[in-house]
Amino acid sequence: MLQKLLGKIKAGCPSCDTFTDNTEDQENIEVKSLCFQKLHREEKCQLLELLKQTGRILSSQEMDVVDEFLAHEGHLSADFIGQKLGEKGKRPDLNMIEDVLSLLCRYGLAQKVHLNGTGPWYEHLHLGETHDHLLCTRCGKVVEFEDEDFKKQMKRSARLHGFQPLFQKTTIYGICDKCKKKQSGTISLSDLSIGEKALIVDLSGGNNLRKKLSDMGLVTDETVEVLGKTGPVILSIKGSRIAIGRGIARKILVSPIVPEKESHEK
Ligand SMILES: [Zn+2]
Ligand SMILES: [Zn+2]
Repeated sequence: MLQKLLGKIKAGCPSCDTFTDNTEDQENIEVKSLCFQKLHREEKCQLLELLKQTGRILSSQEMDVVDEFLAHEGHLSADFIGQKLGEKGKRPDLNMIEDVLSLLCRYGLAQKVHLNGTGPWYEHLHLGETHDHLLCTRCGKVVEFEDEDFKKQMKRSARLHGFQPLFQKTTIYGICDKCKKKQSGTISLSDLSIGEKALIVDLSGGNNLRKKLSDMGLVTDETVEVLGKTGPVILSIKGSRIAIGRGIARKILVSPIVPEKESHEK
């Protein structure tokens, strides 16, 4: 992505003369930050031009929101922008912030994303840059990635169904490295994420409960997969589905199954 951004930045912005650096060290984080700053200035110039062309005038408070949005990369909420402006002694109205962020989406400078039912989040729309998301269902961490092979495969899949692919935004749900390391050994079944498989290791609780669970097929060394967690926990077990209460799920100790890597994965 940095390569592309550098290319764009070096092309320069017709409306301002801030792009005079000729930095070659592309691995340097400071360079990256500098590149983003320049890109954001270029985008602000383009926005001002668009506003002029469409006859839209932004108040100074609205412009503050634009500047605050442009000052940060990543997935930003209206609350976050409000908080950052608050730290600078400004008191913007949350609805006004939402309106400005929506305007940035309409003008092609931002896009709205929903991740795992949370959001809306607003992220920058840098021309020519498309990324997909990895989302940790445990801690909510989001990683953006760009993989040309992945994009090509998605396009191939679309064409196979007669679709002309225009753009894609994919979220891969999983468990991040940090959360994987934290879950050494056994955890309670209620802590599993949707889509996660685990081996039942132990059942706590009285004899009556154990009998009830074993009648449902929940016995040690059996594999379960979590299908749902909103309300009761829905499990897939032995080719069937069962529902158990959250309290009961907490009493079942499991060992998460880490999927084996495919043979072509490194
Ligand atoms: Zn995580
Ligand atoms: Zn993103």
